[in-house]
Amino acid sequence: MAQLILNHVTKHFGGGRPAVSDVSLTVREGGFLALLGPSGCGKTTVLRMIAGFEQPSDGSIDFGERRLSDAARALPPERRNMAMVFQSYALWPHMTVAENVGYPLKVRGISGSAWQRSVADALALVKLTDYADRRPAALSGGQRQRVALARCLVTSPDVVLLDEPLANLDQHLRKSMEETFRIFHERSGATMIYVTHDQAEAMALATDVAVMSEGRLMQMAPPAEIYARPEGAVVGGLIGRGSVLKLAVPEGAPRALEWSLLRSALAGVRMEGAGDGAVRDVLVRPEHVRHDGEGMALRVVSCVFEGERFALTLALPDGQSLKAYGDRAIMPGDTARFVMSQGWRL
Ligand code: ADP
Ligand code: MG
Repeated sequence: MAQLILNHVTKHFGGGRPAVSDVSLTVREGGFLALLGPSGCGKTTVLRMIAGFEQPSDGSIDFGERRLSDAARALPPERRNMAMVFQSYALWPHMTVAENVGYPLKVRGISGSAWQRSVADALALVKLTDYADRRPAALSGGQRQRVALARCLVTSPDVVLLDEPLANLDQHLRKSMEETFRIFHERSGATMIYVTHDQAEAMALATDVAVMSEGRLMQMAPPAEIYARPEGAVVGGLIGRGSVLKLAVPEGAPRALEWSLLRSALAGVRMEGAGDGAVRDVLVRPEHVRHDGEGMALRVVSCVFEGERFALTLALPDGQSLKAYGDRAIMPGDTARFVMSQGWRL
């Protein structure tokens, strides 16, 4: 099995903080990794180093037994059997859809019926068979993105690198394209690395999510695990909805905190450290806050109808705010009783 391995990879572009700092990660063959983080955190630079458009300043990148690059040498991009899809699609305007898709084959000297067959297969996969003779200008944004996908598929790459491929599409189209990516991944069997700053997209698509911040890898784990057990305030704040609260958590408390502990931790903060614990970041998900007559009386700051539920913002006694979901409307300014059924110490 050929794994893609980044081993202590750093990239400096000049003075100041490196664009990528000491990133180590392994993507299994056929895996689907989402690289998630705010703009400027180094995602594109990681992708470009994997593709071979940039060389690491330090560390190494391997594919299976093969060294792709380190600070001393680098295999050129065309010898890596990887394909990269850019946010801008980068289609040739003067070529038809079929010619665009088949271009990488032509470059490799493939023509005739082998060319026809590969292009037809790739177009069928992205459901563009009927558009083969059109030019890119006569396509919608979503169709152009599918052409770009088909073009990267024709050469059967080992690794497909996607840099925010849906960033230029509207919300409705993004949802249907997510499905196309999932099918594309299943059928191609390629290892995929998908860069996005949209955590919902990352969670929906990937088998593993890697969160980056300021050039560093903060955590890498399957979506459900990173959602339930985020490490640190950066990951906790970036993945899913929730409130990061400052609470006085006793020494030796578990990372998963129950209501009784949360309640006393909250009281500890109000007494400014009079509790027996240090003030820590605790993540509370909105689905873990519920109406309960036994709970704490909290003032509702806002209530937004979201269709299937109401999104509430509550004021804790010390002024911190807490997100919750409710099944009925509550007037802002009113008070109701709530229980936090669980929290997670970051
Ligand atoms: P992201 O894709 O997460 O938005 P990038 O990898 O594009 O982040 O950029 C990370 C950092 O590296 C940024 O501060 C950016 O300005 C810097 N950077 C990226 N490419 C270059 C380059 N070719 N020359 C100089 N600085 C660069
Ligand atoms: Mg980028």
